[in-house]
Amino acid sequence: MSGLDFKEVHWMLSVINSIDVGMVVIDNNYDVESWNGFMVHHSNIDAADAKGKNLFDLFPELDKKWFMRKVESVKTIENQSFITWEQRPYIFPFKNYRPITGTVEYMYQNVTIIPLPSLTGDIEQISLTIYDVTDVATNRMALQQANDRLEILSDTDPLTKIHNRGFLEKSLHNVFANFNRNNIISSLVMLDIDHFKAINDQYGHPAGDAVLKQLASILKESIRDTDILARFGGEEFSIVLAHSTSSESLNFIERIRLAIEQAEFRYQDTTIQVTVSFGIAQTAKAFKTVNAWLEASDKALYEAKEKGRNQGIIFDN
Ligand code: GH3
Ligand code: MG
Ligand code: MG
Repeated sequence: MSGLDFKEVHWMLSVINSIDVGMVVIDNNYDVESWNGFMVHHSNIDAADAKGKNLFDLFPELDKKWFMRKVESVKTIENQSFITWEQRPYIFPFKNYRPITGTVEYMYQNVTIIPLPSLTGDIEQISLTIYDVTDVATNRMALQQANDRLEILSDTDPLTKIHNRGFLEKSLHNVFANFNRNNIISSLVMLDIDHFKAINDQYGHPAGDAVLKQLASILKESIRDTDILARFGGEEFSIVLAHSTSSESLNFIERIRLAIEQAEFRYQDTTIQVTVSFGIAQTAKAFKTVNAWLEASDKALYEAKEKGRNQGIIFDN
């Protein structure tokens, strides 16, 4: 033996047995030749009991077809292969006992499949090493969830919980591009509460906030799934009506305007009457930029205010 005496073999086996990594050796029939303490501990099957048993009998949940294909390719290319928890959360269904990551039921695993050449050079055995990566996986998933939440927060208006101006501007760019590419006409509505300052002055700022929230929910319930609603700022809201001309949008918004006029906005014991004005502009080749489109609907809104409020005007150039 190449300088490896019996004593060394003995302590190496001892290390392998106590290391916190799973080690399994299987033969060409997928029968277990040996497994270490990690495997005993997590499977509750003694090494002596596992020996000679078929891996798929020991773990009936193991995806046989998929796993065999993996192992056969390792034998063919005579090179090791790595399966990460992202591809498959686990190969062996071991319970997760770690206190910190107690929220997940199973141990997440990275598994390496290593071909073991015999003295003649043929691959007659395969070694599997199993790494417990539950900590890494749960941290990564928690981070992902936090990022998802942040993304939602950064697109959302905190008061009304509808989209904010940033989200609207991103959406407008997409809709605008879709018009330039595919000639799909959509309309942008800018909507502003009439005399909102007077509402604040008469009932107080919190009452004004309550009005904004109720208006947002009326708008949200009125639009279609494909429309985009956002709080543009202050008491101004925007709606992008997908696949709609400005006159179609006027009809649609007119109904919302009436609903708002008739609605009873409530704050504590007081009922508040609210009206809104709106300006509409549909996508047009004349608009070179998204901003030009926005300004057009804003101009129409201004005109609606000038003409006496509580009405909608279509931009006309
Ligand atoms: P107009 O009919 O011309 O639109 O008149 P207006 O009073 O609605 O418009 P103006 O721009 O003069 O006033 C808007 C007011 O909206 C002023 C501002 O204090 C108030 N406002 C803006 N954001 C909020 C908010 O988040 N909450 C409350 N309560 N008020 C807000
Ligand atoms: Mg206003
Ligand atoms: Mg305003």
